Amino acid sequence: MREKLVVGVDLGGTTVKTGLITSSGVILAERRLPTLGDEGPEAVMGQVRKSIEGVLASAKGKAVRGIGIGSPGLVEKNGIVKAPPNFKGWTSVPMADEIQAAFDIHTEVDNDANTAAIAEAKFGAGRAFPNFLFVIWGTGIGGGIIMNGQIYRGPSGGAGEIGHVSIDYKGPLCKCGTAGCIETYVGQRYLSARAVEILKQHPESKIHALVGGDLSKVEPLYISQAAHDGDRVALDIFTEAGTLLGVALGGVMNTLDYRVSIIGGGISAAGQFVFDAITASVKANVMSPMRDEIIVIPAQLGNTAGMLGAAGLVL
Ligand SMILES: [Zn+2]
Repeated sequence: MREKLVVGVDLGGTTVKTGLITSSGVILAERRLPTLGDEGPEAVMGQVRKSIEGVLASAKGKAVRGIGIGSPGLVEKNGIVKAPPNFKGWTSVPMADEIQAAFDIHTEVDNDANTAAIAEAKFGAGRAFPNFLFVIWGTGIGGGIIMNGQIYRGPSGGAGEIGHVSIDYKGPLCKCGTAGCIETYVGQRYLSARAVEILKQHPESKIHALVGGDLSKVEPLYISQAAHDGDRVALDIFTEAGTLLGVALGGVMNTLDYRVSIIGGGISAAGQFVFDAITASVKANVMSPMRDEIIVIPAQLGNTAGMLGAAGLVL
């Protein structure tokens, strides 16, 4: 069978990454353009179109069967994108209709957490698992639910918001309006703030030297470097964060009768010790018959996940 060709667009906060992609997940051509999120929706949509034109030129007349786009923000089922964070002047844009009209190619849009989950399901760490929870652990905590090999979107498209599972009803107030969301403990900014508090009590930590004594510079990258260097304080910070994340994940495993979590995003890349902490915590927070079957593994696709998962929307 001839391979199908599609376009996958990863619309990020700073860069639009667009690939010409085969049905087996090979990226044949790629264009990267600045998103221009500060210049309003017209400018952003112009960049998306330009990047698609770029990769279509590389198709050299071969039929392109679809265009998939992973976008930040709330994506409704008809491909309308609402209020992506960090995009100025953007209320609601019918992205799927606009792109489909511009190229006369079938177009699907989904949110970027879902496309990253689809990428792992089709081409990455999730290939062996028809059912898993996908988690992106970075600036915030995002997620997607893969059910019987497909993304589960829920009745209105909002499923998979693992970052807003509360682990303490008296916890810190989250931007979503709920107290104690897991994101308010282990999202990048919160994790860094927590690390600063701990570091004030621990002058012996190597993190102090890594930030030149300036605690306002503390971020997960430095904590990770110190942890790899055997720094006890840094290891404890990640172990605590992984343990808290595992509490939220354990609840989801129980609810869905799931065993497998696949975790990507910048902070998850800190090291195996993070996965050890999450795994131990998930096991401690699921029903006992599930305990021995719990699997927590890293995502495989990194930077290409957005494009591959967007392509997966139309494959
Ligand atoms: Zn929240």
